[in-house]
Amino acid sequence: VSVALPTESRAAVLTAYAEPLELREIPVPREIEPGALLVEVEVTTICGTDVHLCAGKLETVNAELPIIPGHEFVGRIVAMGAGADRDAIGTPLAVGDRIVWEHEACGACPACSVQLAPELCPNRRYYMFMDCTKPPYLVGGFSQYCYVFPKSGRLRVPDEVDSDWAAASSCALRTVMHAFERLGRIAPWETVAIQGTGPLGLFAILAAKRSGARSVIAIGGPQERLDLARDYGADELVGVEGTDPESRREQVLALTGTGPDVVMEFSGAPGAFSEGLGMLRRGGRYVVVGQVGGFEDPVRPSLITTKQATVIGSWSASIAHYWQALEFLRLTAADVDYGRMISGRFGLEDATLALQRMSDLLEIKAAIYPSGVTGR
Ligand SMILES: [Zn+2]
Ligand SMILES: [Zn+2]
Repeated sequence: VSVALPTESRAAVLTAYAEPLELREIPVPREIEPGALLVEVEVTTICGTDVHLCAGKLETVNAELPIIPGHEFVGRIVAMGAGADRDAIGTPLAVGDRIVWEHEACGACPACSVQLAPELCPNRRYYMFMDCTKPPYLVGGFSQYCYVFPKSGRLRVPDEVDSDWAAASSCALRTVMHAFERLGRIAPWETVAIQGTGPLGLFAILAAKRSGARSVIAIGGPQERLDLARDYGADELVGVEGTDPESRREQVLALTGTGPDVVMEFSGAPGAFSEGLGMLRRGGRYVVVGQVGGFEDPVRPSLITTKQATVIGSWSASIAHYWQALEFLRLTAADVDYGRMISGRFGLEDATLALQRMSDLLEIKAAIYPSGVTGR
């Protein structure tokens, strides 16, 4: 049975930085390449990177305008290219299945094949950074349909995992999973400080508690996010509103004595790196994840030497971490109210408003439903 493919996809398009998105009809590619998929986007949750990129504040990556924002999404398979009938772990795929999928690494370079770090592939094709007037056009999540690149790893979403959460897992939680993998073991006597109480920080609190940390300190704000951090398991809260780095360091030292054994940075805030390094205990480990802005943050390198600090960067993720993220959601679904993180629901016509509300910290995570919010 051949199903007629849609010919156009409604999408919210960024044509100029810091300008409202434009609703456009984008062509659907007539041919689905071997290995590729066409999916109908169920939900795209908004990531901080979408917000920074649309505002023109993402100095570290070059996008080719016009683009379709959005890279944190869940879709249902509409059409399948030849040989695309299984996911990355061998699960059979069929039209109608829900999947998450990754950016596309080339699979044939030293990063992909020797270092086994496809997230560092220099030839990686990223959703939402590519010109949507060129084939395969559907290269972002603020769109009814999206094209899954032939070499993008993809996973069937377990039935127990709600689409909203699965979407949030496909950038935020998989990034957190990768960061914990980079960090390595957390011993039962170790205290972990989490910088940032946005979606990544909140996911990290949940993950740190389940990794067996003795105590988790959440450093963030505003108050409703600190409340959620507490409900997600943070043992101690340190607010960033109305406090300065030195007073926060003193608070954390008062809580820990010698400083946290592990500090994890998910805030993306200017100055967060020097602050986190400053509070880390001697011999501690510092994982830096949120720092994607182009600003500078002076530190004394002797701090790294004299603390004998281990500083670990963690960038993006690969399909293994998407699997870990979905599995984490499946295993914790009964215990954690993930719905509290999805704070607002919008149609494509309100995508600009959703981005603005994220930027103003009025939403923890906003969700875009390209086919409308009715019935959600
Ligand atoms: Zn993201
Ligand atoms: Zn590669």
